[in-house]
Amino acid sequence: MRKLLLWCAQNKWLASHVPRWSFARRAVRRFLPGEGFDAALKAAVDLRAQGIGALFTLLGENVTELEDAGQVVEHYEEVLAASGGVHAEISVKPTQLGLDIDPAAAYANLQRLAGAAGKAKSFLWIDMEGSAYTDRTLDLYSRLKSEHSHVGIALQAYLHRTVGDVAKLLPSKPAIRLVKGAYAEPPQIAFPAKRDVDANYLALCAFLLPEVKRHHARLVLATHDTDLIAKAWRFAQAAGMERSQMEVAMLYGIRADEQRRLAREGFDVRVLIAYGDAWYAWYLRRLAERPANMLFVARQLFGA
Ligand SMILES: Cc1cc2nc3c(=O)[nH]c(=O)nc-3n(C[C@H](O)[C@H](O)[C@H](O)COP(=O)(O)OP(=O)(O)OC[C@H]3O[C@@H](n4cnc5c(N)ncnc54)[C@H](O)[C@@H]3O)c2cc1C
Repeated sequence: MRKLLLWCAQNKWLASHVPRWSFARRAVRRFLPGEGFDAALKAAVDLRAQGIGALFTLLGENVTELEDAGQVVEHYEEVLAASGGVHAEISVKPTQLGLDIDPAAAYANLQRLAGAAGKAKSFLWIDMEGSAYTDRTLDLYSRLKSEHSHVGIALQAYLHRTVGDVAKLLPSKPAIRLVKGAYAEPPQIAFPAKRDVDANYLALCAFLLPEVKRHHARLVLATHDTDLIAKAWRFAQAAGMERSQMEVAMLYGIRADEQRRLAREGFDVRVLIAYGDAWYAWYLRRLAERPANMLFVARQLFGA
């Protein structure tokens, strides 16, 4: 089911038709507060009242016109100017900034966003996409990090290479958002079994948390896996960290009760709020993460 859903995520016919179906639009509302930024901002204000921070992401990937990438940059500049009150950060996909078309232009777009994020005292995260982009994304990040301190990158624990990538990044005092990984990858490069992905995730935490304590890295545990978070917290405690130094991020609409519990307990919790009309591929990846979500989609279809 995971493979099928990830295949559907890449299918151009489905991508152009499914978003028109009203039951699909109803189903996606579970993970998006709305398509417009105003709905995302309102959700961030509500979360802020519960002691939870926000991470905004405008949905979209693999743009084919540089003009569209330029509009994404302008949009984020407006978002950064408008969201000072909620202390939000932003997260972008390199292919949404033109990486497929012109890597130099994509880098210039990232530089502009890093500048805007710095001015707004915010933080720019670079999402990690499928493995065809890993090297180029790491390269963009390393260059950007040499010019800007408030930039971070998502790394995927399902890739065998990630431990090596972490080691290479460490001298630059990186900011790493550690995720399990959301794309369909072959077993030659990614652990096929969930237990191996989880074990690698934990090993990476064990390696990085002492670096966080020494202020040599920023680490955000971007996962809904509360067992893993609890295990990582034991490593953090052993490294002498306070709860407030342990950063966790989850997606809007997923395990909201756990988001609130962790925030109440004193962890630094942030929720990624996605918005925009290009939700199709992103939404299919959310369904693939938990195929039981298909039941919810079916209920929307049959009005149950
Ligand atoms: C803040 C954030 C940023 C991310 N950025 C990236 C990125 O840049 N690149 C990338 O490849 N991936 C990214 N991801 C996605 C990530 O790679 C995983 O696919 C996703 O988080 C699901 O894995 P998990 O860590 O939650 O663990 P899992 O073991 O999959 O899930 C743990 C538990 O969480 C719940 N859960 C998880 N996912 C769902 C869901 N979709 N619906 C309902 N319940 C669910 C279930 O109860 C499950 O048992 C991001 C995730 C987060 C939270």
